[in-house]
Amino acid sequence: MSSHTEQSAVTVLGLGPMGRSLAGAFLDAGLRTTVWNRTPGRDRELVERGAVGARSAEAAVAASGLTVVCVVNYDAADAILRRGEVADVLKGRTVVNLTADTPGRARDTAAWAAEHGIRYLDGAIMTPTTTIGTPAAVFIHSGSQELYREHRPVLDALGGTHTHLGEEIGRAAAYDIALLDIFWTAMAGYVHALAVARAEGVTARELAPFAKGIGAILPPIFEQSAEEVDSGRFSGEGNPMTSAVSSMAHIVHTSETHGIDAGVMRAAEGMARRAIGQGHGAEGFTRIAEILGRR
Ligand code: NDP
Repeated sequence: MSSHTEQSAVTVLGLGPMGRSLAGAFLDAGLRTTVWNRTPGRDRELVERGAVGARSAEAAVAASGLTVVCVVNYDAADAILRRGEVADVLKGRTVVNLTADTPGRARDTAAWAAEHGIRYLDGAIMTPTTTIGTPAAVFIHSGSQELYREHRPVLDALGGTHTHLGEEIGRAAAYDIALLDIFWTAMAGYVHALAVARAEGVTARELAPFAKGIGAILPPIFEQSAEEVDSGRFSGEGNPMTSAVSSMAHIVHTSETHGIDAGVMRAAEGMARRAIGQGHGAEGFTRIAEILGRR
């Protein structure tokens, strides 16, 4: 460990599952770690491991030059940070906000921080709590490059990969939203698939190896689609929209035959049918990204 991290102190505000994991990783890395949570008592295990449990948010932020915030959303983060006593203590210190919310909220909180002389970086965590402190963790950051470089040694204690995406403060949240869009629509498809499979007498366990196979098809499709979407050329070779929409209709039909809501797939089918109606039937499904983005 470098002498820099040995001397560093960090405060973690928010001790939900993720906040506790972050604080635990800082402790494991030997950093002096102060913690605080709105509801008392959530710090017990961390304190047993050597963390300092602060009695108030202002006492917590006073203990370190760097405060990491990780709560449910920016309403919660703002409720903690924007209280007068806390904002006063934060003046001249750094906040790294790893709470998930929208790019607009990140920009708004950054503007507030600037008005109050608080140094501010925004970020997002793209992997579950179990990855924190391990090579599998993925963090993205945005804001001042210089400030990021200054605090990078402490952030590195969280393990995994850290990527600075640019100085525009909303950029990490923009990536986060796009990536969570992929995740939650995929999960919505997965749970729906499990319901339809079960109605057909197929258990989740039986489907699992094949479900994983479908997941594995996606990464190369993401690579190819990136080229198409950025170039504006949507090859339907091998799987034109007219063919895709037919398979979607089968899913809707089977699902509704069993009385299972098919709203998510109906929405996808509707987008594909509109694209076909606009003359894009021979093109690939990714043409819809361009159509959705039209203003
Ligand atoms: P939650 O999203 O449930 O957040 C819980 C934390 O938010 C607790 O510390 C809770 O305090 C606090 N909180 C909620 N409302 C308020 C409020 N009004 N004022 C002050 N504090 C409040 O759990 P996580 O810890 O899992 O998530 C934290 C962040 O990390 C979220 O933005 C989440 O999206 C993100 N994240 C989580 C991942 C995960 O695997 N868990 C993965 C990637 C990102 P209290 O105990 O007092 O209720």
